[in-house]
Formats: sequence, structure tokens, C-alpha cells
Amino acid sequence: MQWTDDHDRFRQAVRGVLDREVQPHVDEWEAAGIFPGHQLFKALGSAGLFGLEYDPADGGQGADHSYTVILGEELGRVGCGGIPMAISVQTDMATPSLARFGTPELKAAYLAPALRGEMVASIAVTEPDAGSDVAGLRTRAVRDGDEWVINGSKLYITNGTQADWLCLLARTSDEGGSRGMSQIVFPTSTPGFSVSRSLKKLGNRSSDTAELSFVDARVPVANTIGEIGQGFRQQMRQFQNERMIAAYSAVGAMTVALEKTAAYLKERKAFGQPLLANQYLQYSLAELSAEVDMLRHYNYACADAYLRGEDTTRFATIAKLKAGRLHRKVADTCLQFHGGAGYMEETWVSRFFRDGRLLSIGGGADEVMLRVMSVLDGFTA
Ligand SMILES: Cc1cc2nc3c(=O)[nH]c(=O)nc-3n(C[C@H](O)[C@H](O)[C@H](O)COP(=O)(O)OP(=O)(O)OC[C@H]3O[C@@H](n4cnc5c(N)ncnc54)[C@H](O)[C@@H]3O)c2cc1C
Repeated sequence: MQWTDDHDRFRQAVRGVLDREVQPHVDEWEAAGIFPGHQLFKALGSAGLFGLEYDPADGGQGADHSYTVILGEELGRVGCGGIPMAISVQTDMATPSLARFGTPELKAAYLAPALRGEMVASIAVTEPDAGSDVAGLRTRAVRDGDEWVINGSKLYITNGTQADWLCLLARTSDEGGSRGMSQIVFPTSTPGFSVSRSLKKLGNRSSDTAELSFVDARVPVANTIGEIGQGFRQQMRQFQNERMIAAYSAVGAMTVALEKTAAYLKERKAFGQPLLANQYLQYSLAELSAEVDMLRHYNYACADAYLRGEDTTRFATIAKLKAGRLHRKVADTCLQFHGGAGYMEETWVSRFFRDGRLLSIGGGADEVMLRVMSVLDGFTA
């Protein structure tokens, strides 16, 4: 990865926007269990943070993937997991397929407004009976002339209570398993759609998470993203973007956590000296810092491969797996070294501990990453 002055300027600009638009409100949004999606996204869209890699003709910024790495790392520095996740859904989870495969009409109607921050988007894949096993999903879109008639439900959908449209993965034919699915832009103003539940969570509380219901909801067949029947394949590719930005953000979050923990241990005294005078604490933080650095550079290798146009499935899978596992280790250590203060809601580290736990579950659990790896590397019987 070749970093230039332009990258540095971009990093400073992103940090400035997030310091202004997000950081001061995090506590309030965490307490409320939701953030003002339309208000925040308008501000971030106006600042040019959405659609970094997308074609300017579609409202994107025309930059390359190295800028997404920076955006991810900077998002991770925000003092919670919820808002970075909500933003990443808009930039790297719900929109990549539409940017890649959408018709000009579909992109003008849904992608461009999302990139301007005027529309909030969600990615709707998971269902009550199908999470890790995406091929088992049951939400069905049946064709009736020029319309899809959609019935089913989706669960754990980020931004789900305030989204204007969903990138919906639905079954569009009777072929079983991963075949016969399509991605559809689903406007949430469609009759027959409802938010059945807003879910309370262990962490990422500033981000809204919903269960969604579809009863005879009709959308034009023209809302299909890409080819009918190619939805599963397209979503598997879209998952790579999700896993990459998750790993980039994790590096930002863990870096800040180690810095803050070291600062605390320099101040806090026990046995007549700063806690950080203990070699055990120094070495523990040093080793974690080394592991974060390994992940950072692995992420850069992944981004380089992506920039070369290579398939990054293996890179993204490993990065996501290792990010989730390492985040758990860093969070546990940082909390431990804060003692009782670390267990208190009022201390940043308790939120860091709760929020980071999602990384090993969302976007494909650790075990699903290992399953992918087993197949890719031939560790199957
Ligand atoms: C806060 C939050 C936000 C989310 N946001 C979204 C969103 O915006 N859009 C969306 O579509 N989804 C979203 N999800 C869903 C998320 O992607 C799923 O929860 C995840 O993929 C796991 O699916 P599941 O919960 O159904 O777990 P299950 O599939 O029931 O799996 C349970 C556990 O079993 C283990 N397991 C699963 N498969 C295997 C295997 N093959 N081998 C060994 N062990 C296995 C894993 O430990 C896994 O955690 C979100 C989830 C959360 C918690």
C-alpha cells in the first residue's frame, strides 16, 4: 500500500468530520438506542464520505479502495461500534451490488440519493431461520407480470427501523439452496412492509436493529439488481466488502483502545507507582499492539489485492476472522487492566468490550469464516 500526502489529508478530513458530526453525540445516541440516520447521513454524504469508490456518474467519489481502508480505520476510532456499523452498512454492505450491477435508472433512484445521504439503506439477508446458512433463506418473491410479490421476514437488520430502501435477498425461483435467489431494491414505503420489532442488544446500542415483515408487498421486477437468479453469487461478493471494512475498522478501534488503556495505566497508581510500571502490563499491551499491527498490514495486503482486481475472498475471510478474535482479546485485556472502573458503564472500555463482541458473529460468524477457509485450503474430507 503506497500512502501519499493525499491519503494523509483525507484521513485528517475524515477524522475532522467524525469528530464534529459523530463523536459529541455518541453517548446520547447510545442512551436513546438509535441515531438520527437521515440527519447524520446527510451531513456525512455532503462531506463526501459515502460512495468513495463508486463512479462519479452515479454520485460516487471515483477514488480507489485505499481510501476505504482509511475510512474504515477512522470509523473504528469513533467511541462506539454502533455508528461505524450503521455507516458501513450504507457504504460497504447495502450499496456495492447496486453500484456493480444496478441499471442506470435504479442507481439514479436509490444509489445516488443514498450517497448524498438523503436515503438510508439496509442490507436484508438474515432471517429467523437462516443466518449462517444463507442458502436456507425463505423470503420469497413471486413474479406477477412486471412485479415481484414478496412474502417473508428478515431479522437483525441494521438501520432497519429507519431505512428508505433495502438491498433484499429473496428466493425468486423454486430451485433449491443457493440457486434461484435475486437481490432486489425494496423501498420501505411499499404497502405490505412493516417493522415488526426493534431489538434491544448487548452492544452497538446507538444502532437500530430490526425484524422486518413482508406481506404481499409488490415492487417492480425492474428493481432487481443484476441478473434474476444471481442474487446469492452477488451477495457473496458483497460480503467481501462487508468483511474488509469490518477488519479495517477493527484496527482503528483496537489502536485507540490500547492507547487509552496505556494512558490510564500511566495515571492510575498502585503499590506506590503507576500501574504501567509493571512489566507484565507493559508487555501485554506491547504484544497486543504487535498483533494489531500484523492485522493492519494483512488488511493492507488484502486492499492491495483488491486494488489489483483479484478475488479477495481468502484475504477478507482471514482478516474478518482474525479481527474478531483479536478484538475479543484486546477488549478483555483493556477491561481487565482498568479493574473495577472497566466494569462500569460510565467507562469507555465497557462499551468497547460489549460492542466488539459482534465482530465474531455479524457478517458471518468466526466458524463460518473457518468453514470458508477449510474449503479454500482443502481441509475437507
Ligand atoms: C447487531 C447485529 C446486526 C446485524 N446486522 C445485520 C444486517 O444488517 N443484515 C443482515 O442480513 N444480517 C445482520 N445480522 C445478522 C448476522 O449476520 C447473523 O447473526 C450471523 O450471520 C449469524 O447468523 P445467526 O445469528 O442466524 O446464527 P446461526 O446461523 O444460528 O449460528 C449460530 C452459531 O452457530 C455456529 N455456526 C454456524 N454455522 C456453523 C458451521 N457451519 N460450523 C460450525 N459452527 C457454526 C456459530 O458459532 C454461530 O454463531 C446482524 C446481527 C447482529 C447481532
